[in-house]
Amino acid sequence: MPSPAARHRDNAPDALSVLNAVFGLPAFRGAQEEIVRHVSGGGNCLVLMPTGGGKSLCYQLPSLLRDGCGIVVSPLIALMRDQVAGLLEAGVKAAVLNSTLTFEEANDVERRLLAGDLDLLYVAPERLLTPRCLNLLGRAKIALFAIDEAHCVSQWGHDFRPEYIGLSVLAERFPDVPRIALTATADDLTRKEIADRLGLADAPRFVASFDRPNIRYEIVEKQNAPTQLKAFIDERHAGDAGIVYCLSRAKVEDTAAALTKAGIPALPYHAGLDASVRARNQDRFINEDGVVMVATIAFGMGIDKPDVRFVAHLDLPKSIEAYYQETGRAGRDGKPSSAWMAYGLSDIVQQRRMIDESTGSDAFKRVSVGKLDALVGLAETAGCRRSRLLGYFGEAVSAGNCGNCDNCLSPPQLRDGKVAAQKLLSCAYRTGQRFGAMHLIDVLVGRLTERVTQFGHDKLSVFGIGSELNEKQWRSVVRQLVAMGHLQADSEAFGALKLTETARAVLKGETDVMLREAPAGARVRASRSKSRRGDLAPRATDEGRHNDAGLQTDLRAWRSEIARKRGVPA
Ligand code: ADP
Ligand code: MG
Repeated sequence: MPSPAARHRDNAPDALSVLNAVFGLPAFRGAQEEIVRHVSGGGNCLVLMPTGGGKSLCYQLPSLLRDGCGIVVSPLIALMRDQVAGLLEAGVKAAVLNSTLTFEEANDVERRLLAGDLDLLYVAPERLLTPRCLNLLGRAKIALFAIDEAHCVSQWGHDFRPEYIGLSVLAERFPDVPRIALTATADDLTRKEIADRLGLADAPRFVASFDRPNIRYEIVEKQNAPTQLKAFIDERHAGDAGIVYCLSRAKVEDTAAALTKAGIPALPYHAGLDASVRARNQDRFINEDGVVMVATIAFGMGIDKPDVRFVAHLDLPKSIEAYYQETGRAGRDGKPSSAWMAYGLSDIVQQRRMIDESTGSDAFKRVSVGKLDALVGLAETAGCRRSRLLGYFGEAVSAGNCGNCDNCLSPPQLRDGKVAAQKLLSCAYRTGQRFGAMHLIDVLVGRLTERVTQFGHDKLSVFGIGSELNEKQWRSVVRQLVAMGHLQADSEAFGALKLTETARAVLKGETDVMLREAPAGARVRASRSKSRRGDLAPRATDEGRHNDAGLQTDLRAWRSEIARKRGVPA
């Protein structure tokens, strides 16, 4: 008996009736119909649609409508397996060709492909690129090539797979077979890279809205991350399934253990675990209720669990793309969900170090730093997070106020931060741009630590000029100035804060600096500093005028320094 798919093909079906009969779905969603029509008609294209948007149909349906077999390139074996299982259930003749097959099984798949007995074939990229497979495809009738998770082709993306690079051969070897590349995340640069590598420069791009209105974005200052995470889960997601992302394997283990100890069922997942442990943990996460998966980014792609209620980041991802992709695993069922992240200055330093220490080219490092900066900008924005996020992907949010992110729900107070910025920049400058945030804040608030005395920084005019803000507020100022690009945390020098080109204008008072108010806390008092590191009491500072005068001296020094560098008299 012919499969439902084949029956429809015989009756020259239209796309909608195949959608109804084969996939059991009543209607197309968003741009699906247009894409299906375009690809069925033999067109190439690039599809950008968020996770859960329904990308699979965009190539599955045209594969059924066109003659021959649709070849789907997919990076993950689990992803292929799940999709094929679903298709078989719907009566579609689907198969996989990857390293999990025995020689006989692979032979059988090849035979069926040549006999025209397959509607869809999922192939791992490294398999597809073997001479044997390319030769096989040359002899078969191919309906189309679908390149799923196409961002994997981007060297500068967050999920680069070297095997994907070789896929450029498809355009050369099979110029008459339509190619459809699909991804849930690609900023401008990545889109261009996909298009270049897959020969889609002239192909239309279908860009669906990337908005995930049911996800609430929230980014908090990292203080004690494990405690903050536990409070977040207890208060907002008790008993819910969630994913917690950490950068390192050790942190994954520690966090999972801490959550379990606190009565929250949590499992670790990272590449260092035995494959069987990983598989078991993944199964439990998917099949049991309310399991929290603590994982490195090795976990997630292709995990289709609709009721993940939260995604938490304990470390900063690499880019907005990565953040979007990872947070996008929450709430695929459309129900209210959270994307929560705790981050601090040390995260920026850490990511910078990873970029600097990577073996990439200078261009790679430049691009990576740019992507990191954009993410830091998102983390530090006082405006709507969703607008910022979608804006990065070229999409506008109406009125720039989503009503479902922390900043929209409780807008941060903005204040004129010019003087605070000048004090901080000045302090960094006066101490030789060799110190990290901690030390600079000690100097600003007038705390006589061992280091402060050791370097004689208590003798500087900037000592104690910043006691109007507390430590937490200063940290927030530091991060915001880094996000604004006036300060740079030097990863090679353990996070030493250095002034950038634009800092000059701030110091000269030519640039306005609006800062978001850090959550209020007690002002720094002299007694506090005494207890913290057993330092001596700080020298009594006569706040206000005296220190502003000190700052003026500083600014003068800065100006003459600039003048000297430029070779003009101050
Ligand atoms: P993506 O690959 O974009 O993440 P999928 O193709 O896996 O998304 O689809 C996500 C879910 O949406 C699947 O459960 C799929 O059945 C469903 N879906 C796709 N298109 C439609 C549609 N037109 N109507 C209803 N459900 C759909
Ligand atoms: Mg998909």
